[in-house]
Amino acid sequence: MKNFRTTLLLMAFVAMLAACKKDKETEQPTPEIQTTANAPEFADIHICTELYPEGVTPRGATIKTKQWANGTKIKVSLNGGTTFVRNKVIQFASEWEKYANIDFQFVTNDNTAAIRVTFANDGSWSYIGKDALSIASSQATMNFGWFNSSTSDAEFSRTTIHEFGHALGMIHEHQHPLVAIPWDKPKVYAYYAGAPNYWSKASVDNNIFAKYSTGQTNYSAYDKFSIMHYSVPESLTIGTYSVGNNTVLSSTDKTFIASVYPK
Ligand SMILES: [Zn+2]
Repeated sequence: MKNFRTTLLLMAFVAMLAACKKDKETEQPTPEIQTTANAPEFADIHICTELYPEGVTPRGATIKTKQWANGTKIKVSLNGGTTFVRNKVIQFASEWEKYANIDFQFVTNDNTAAIRVTFANDGSWSYIGKDALSIASSQATMNFGWFNSSTSDAEFSRTTIHEFGHALGMIHEHQHPLVAIPWDKPKVYAYYAGAPNYWSKASVDNNIFAKYSTGQTNYSAYDKFSIMHYSVPESLTIGTYSVGNNTVLSSTDKTFIASVYPK
């Protein structure tokens, strides 16, 4: 029974893991929605992939160049989804506006908007900061792939705040310049090689192990409680290191974004 419970706990933990790749930010479905009794271990990891415009190499662009001008009013068009889901996105995206001098102006079905959000069954992802401006107006710059009427507020909060963090230019905390996660690399490669990711070793290197340089990024101290951090199960690290499922802005997230976009 203990083993069974441990396995369930492990599955739940891993289901919360969010991974992001450097081309686009793609997050995967919620643990609540995805996990089933028969799900293979590690099957439900949350994937977040940072999208980059065509021709831009993943490491070629930096957060410094992706930040919006301070005080920018950013029009955000929510294209599709139900009223309930759209209102949840507005509610939780607005968390950033409490601390950042940024004004999201929400509209619907307006492809002149700088940020165009869709709700297709395509994972959850976002371009990083001003990269959205280089995307054709007919295309989305952000997607939420698993929101519906039974999504929990915690999941709306976790994924919406995370994706809008990318839209403000934030990168994944697990690739923070000062990060030192004691990854068990063979296990990480093996895990991501499986469903639903099927990542090559190179993809894992790029999406998981690569760090941004200190020169590329504006950054504060490494923060394992950041909304931009993946959940990291202990089973993928050496020793007992793990990162839980962060669903709200950490205190460092708040002070950091306030320093990047001061009021
Ligand atoms: Zn992400």
